[in-house]
Amino acid sequence: MAESNGIAYSGGHFVPVEDATIPILDPAFTKSDVVFDAVSVWDGNFFRLDDHLRRFRDSCSYVRMKPPLGEDEIKHVLAQCVEKAEFSRSIVYMLCTRGRYGGGVAFGDPRTCRNEFLAYSVPYYWVVPKDRIQTGAHLWVAETRRAPDVAINQRVKNFNRMDLTCAQFEALDAGADQPVLLSTGGYLTEGPGFNVWIVKDGRVLTPGENLLEGITRLTVFELCQMAGLEAATADLKPQDLAAADEAFLSSSGGGIIPITKVSNALIGDGKPGDISRRLRDLYWEKRAQGWHATALADLLVEPVPRAVAGR
Ligand code: PLP
Repeated sequence: MAESNGIAYSGGHFVPVEDATIPILDPAFTKSDVVFDAVSVWDGNFFRLDDHLRRFRDSCSYVRMKPPLGEDEIKHVLAQCVEKAEFSRSIVYMLCTRGRYGGGVAFGDPRTCRNEFLAYSVPYYWVVPKDRIQTGAHLWVAETRRAPDVAINQRVKNFNRMDLTCAQFEALDAGADQPVLLSTGGYLTEGPGFNVWIVKDGRVLTPGENLLEGITRLTVFELCQMAGLEAATADLKPQDLAAADEAFLSSSGGGIIPITKVSNALIGDGKPGDISRRLRDLYWEKRAQGWHATALADLLVEPVPRAVAGR
């Protein structure tokens, strides 16, 4: 049997992910007026589901949206998207869209919109080609800058991604795997789907401003504490990345992945560093032990969501 592409929950129904649609007049489409989150499932366990739900809730509040489902219902829907697709490893998205303006008009008052909740599962993916886990990723410092927090609060997980997409084209044109974007002030921020880290003189450092505070980033701070490593945020310039002893990225899509080249410069000796490899391995070991895990099976026995029962 061919593997499913995923299952979506939309309008109170579960459908193949390729059949899920949103109305063309939903400001989610016309104005990127949508917030979301993405949580990984590995061998039947969600990772840090409550942390992802907390971030989703915060994103919704910032843009003044209220999902029509409660948190237990959301968990149950997410679990069903995975179970119905028969995935044991998946990335699962939850979205809150603004929803159509009152009266069905194309341009109007956002207070009249009835917010909608959507979710979908897709097969687990890596934000760089999978073999980079072992060999290390090649990042490209893009000319395109990350939209500043004063315009778009990057702590809110959003789909305003023109900067990330233009930067991705720059990186791919240059033969790299992914871009890393600078802030308008010239400091490192993040890339499409991941946070960046450097290791310098035994200290593990990551940018602190103008970025999404990744749940995997939070995990790296915890793993560093377990491993007795000093970890902190810092204002980092691209030359700090090029001159780092080692570097890595963190994402729900791949965990912790060494970085071995930035633009045209090798990092260290161009091989994944010891600390990056240690943290990468610890991440997967801890996940296999059930650290921060919620079993999919436990969420399938939750009460049937209101929306499915015909809200
Ligand atoms: N930065 C951006 C822009 C992202 O979209 C993501 C995740 O998709 C991340 C960082 C990493 O966040 P997390 O570790 O929660 O996956």
